Amino acid sequence: MTGPLLPRPPLSRRTFIVDLGRGAFALALVGLAGCASVVGSPVPGSAGAPPGSAGDGPGGPGGQSFGKADGALTWERVNLGFVSADVLVRAGEATVVDTGQANHADDIEAALKRMSLGWGAVAHLVLTHSHNDHAGSAADVLRRATGATGYAGAADIPGISGMPRPLVAVGEGDRVMGLRVVTAPGHTPGQVVAYDAIARLLVAGDSMGTSAGKPILPNAHFTPDMAEAKRSIAKLGALGFETLLVGHREPITAGASGLVAELGRAG
Ligand SMILES: [Zn+2]
Repeated sequence: MTGPLLPRPPLSRRTFIVDLGRGAFALALVGLAGCASVVGSPVPGSAGAPPGSAGDGPGGPGGQSFGKADGALTWERVNLGFVSADVLVRAGEATVVDTGQANHADDIEAALKRMSLGWGAVAHLVLTHSHNDHAGSAADVLRRATGATGYAGAADIPGISGMPRPLVAVGEGDRVMGLRVVTAPGHTPGQVVAYDAIARLLVAGDSMGTSAGKPILPNAHFTPDMAEAKRSIAKLGALGFETLLVGHREPITAGASGLVAELGRAG
């Protein structure tokens, strides 16, 4: 137990255990590990989604499903300075979301190592969108993670070149390692984000940024359809999540979907 007088370590890694037995969800925070890359407040002790809500459990209706779906979810943000990648792990299988600019595969490898994993565990690479500051190390990651499948939204795949093997198109309702793929166009036409209803986590790419602990609109200079981007934010705000990981700037680790909904209403 961490007493009130103990210093709070910086957080970047969370583990959730989901008990799907007896028809009830039980969510327990079982591990917090310190890392310099993220400073956040503790995750609430229990915030499980109701059973079967919004089809977010494993094997929900519709869509393609790739990889493992059950068990604990651990995440680590890989702070690459200007931009972030994220590593999500479930039952020993890893999904990398975005890769930063070129030459960042070593940083992602270091994050895997901190999670006691190697490239062999990486079964999935999700590219939220085609921009080079997110897909810049994707070819390198796929070359190192020889067993991994790469995914992106269909409309963005033509803008991602040089992959060692073709990317698989994913869209609304598809599942990657149990994470629900949600389309979030506007910043790019084919942007996709990853949502986990059990861990209450959204990996949002550039569908929004953050500033001073609040979500903000994506950079207008790089967002050709801001009206669409605002509609996407409103849609994402309707999902239930505590933790928001964005491509640029700091994560939000408590009450995030309420803040995103607020931004959606303001937009
Ligand atoms: Zn972008």
